[in-house]
Amino acid sequence: MSTLLQVAQLGQPILRQKAQRVENIKATNIQQMIDDLLATVMDVNGVGIAAPQVYQSYRIFIVASHPNPRYPQAPDMEPTPMINPKLVSHNKVIKKDWEGCLSIPGIRGLIPRFTEIKVEYTDRNGKKQTASYTDFVARIFQHENDHLNGVLFLDRLETTKDLISDKEYQKMMSKKK
Ligand SMILES: [Zn+2]
Repeated sequence: MSTLLQVAQLGQPILRQKAQRVENIKATNIQQMIDDLLATVMDVNGVGIAAPQVYQSYRIFIVASHPNPRYPQAPDMEPTPMINPKLVSHNKVIKKDWEGCLSIPGIRGLIPRFTEIKVEYTDRNGKKQTASYTDFVARIFQHENDHLNGVLFLDRLETTKDLISDKEYQKMMSKKK
């Protein structure tokens, strides 16, 4: 059984806290939280969600890349829960691209991110994993990882001129097609 969770919106102090490490991954409350996060991100057709966004200040997030109008080539990956994730290394190339956030409705921002990263995390069975990601998936990881440190994409804007409304973003995307 999983429950759809309410998403904390900008202004909720929990979004600004540093989340705590998960010590006991097998604990019932942690496994339930992972199920609920998976159900919630799939319900909104999102590409990622972090535990602090659902009022749980733990170092857990889901990366759920799938093709979308902006990234038709985005890898269609099984939604992947990552526990105590860590960005191990990155390349020097930084690219700006559009991001949105379930906790910041109505706004999109052009956000600089590394294009290639190596990461470590523990999976929901308690097994250590390493992975390399590029472009869109690397961007999702960096966005979600920021949530665990109380950082929102707004904090990474180079200029407020890189902010647009979701309505204008949708218009721009439909023109591109
Ligand atoms: Zn977000």
